[in-house]
Amino acid sequence: MKIDTFKDNFFKNIYTKRNLAKYTWFGVGGKAEILYIPEEEKSLEKFLKVKPYDCKVFTMGAGSNLLIRDNGIDGVTLITSKLNKINIDKDGIITANCGAFDAEVARFARNHSRTGLEFLIGIPGTVGGGIKMNSGAFGSEFKDVLIDVKAINHNGEYKIISNEDLDMKYRKIGLKDEWIFLSARFRTSVDTKKNIQDKMKKIIHSRKSAQPIGVKTGGSTFKNPLGKKAWKLIDQAGCRGLKNGDAMISEKHCNFIVNLKNANAHQIEELGQNVKQKVFENTGIKLKWEIERVGNR
Ligand SMILES: Cc1cc2nc3c(=O)[nH]c(=O)nc-3n(C[C@H](O)[C@H](O)[C@H](O)COP(=O)(O)OP(=O)(O)OC[C@H]3O[C@@H](n4cnc5c(N)ncnc54)[C@H](O)[C@@H]3O)c2cc1C
Repeated sequence: MKIDTFKDNFFKNIYTKRNLAKYTWFGVGGKAEILYIPEEEKSLEKFLKVKPYDCKVFTMGAGSNLLIRDNGIDGVTLITSKLNKINIDKDGIITANCGAFDAEVARFARNHSRTGLEFLIGIPGTVGGGIKMNSGAFGSEFKDVLIDVKAINHNGEYKIISNEDLDMKYRKIGLKDEWIFLSARFRTSVDTKKNIQDKMKKIIHSRKSAQPIGVKTGGSTFKNPLGKKAWKLIDQAGCRGLKNGDAMISEKHCNFIVNLKNANAHQIEELGQNVKQKVFENTGIKLKWEIERVGNR
């Protein structure tokens, strides 16, 4: 694909053959054929309208739930990190752009004495990724607090999608990938800053004791099967500490794969498949990936 189509239209922050590893938590992944990091909603709309009709578009937030394969992503990859404003209205409804970090939204709510979004403090993603994954922690998930989301499709057409129409379930939604989330509205209620801060502190503390911190990882690798814990099944199958090159099943939380240093995406994915197989042989249960694997092998 020719980048000139976009350059002629004066878009900023467009790159060709840009390595995506540094944009992901795992620190692995091949190149984006074209990478675009829009600074404004309007530029993104224009970009989507001038791009060739059949050009594929993939959207990334913080890359905390992604395993981008070693041979990269064809077409356009969008990163939403510069679309990150957060506002509150007189009724306490918080509107966050989809590139805003979850933790920033949690802190913003606390600073305005609004409760309900504390669980976001420990999820290392963006609002857009959180909606797509219906992310959650400590008994709350996006589904519980989201009112609606403003989205744009790959042809530059806008739509407001209500919480109900997103059909949010455990770590998935029932909406086609053609929608890019732009901003979301969250309901909150009043509380004291101290109470909110105390809840957030507890969440941070219990994460630190249960999960590996400061490592290259994609968080929970597999979804919990109904009524079971994926980490337990992995542990029982003897996979704690299992390695494939520099990819390793965390000793601390065995549903986390850690990139110790120089693992590539292939090694991480192979380790995950190996674990799936071992759990299946041990229990007859087929684990499902929670981490999204994208791009060319
Ligand atoms: C250390 C660690 C801890 C974690 N803890 C939790 C946890 O407690 N609970 C939990 O649920 N998850 C957890 N995760 C997983 C991850 O943080 C969440 O899934 C997060 O919401 C992903 O957001 P992201 O911005 O990083 O999305 P990405 O990883 O960049 O993308 C994930 C998916 O969202 C899509 N997407 C991203 N932005 C948009 C957008 N604007 N519009 C449309 N689609 C979009 C992508 O195409 C992709 O399909 C953890 C991950 C790590 C590394």
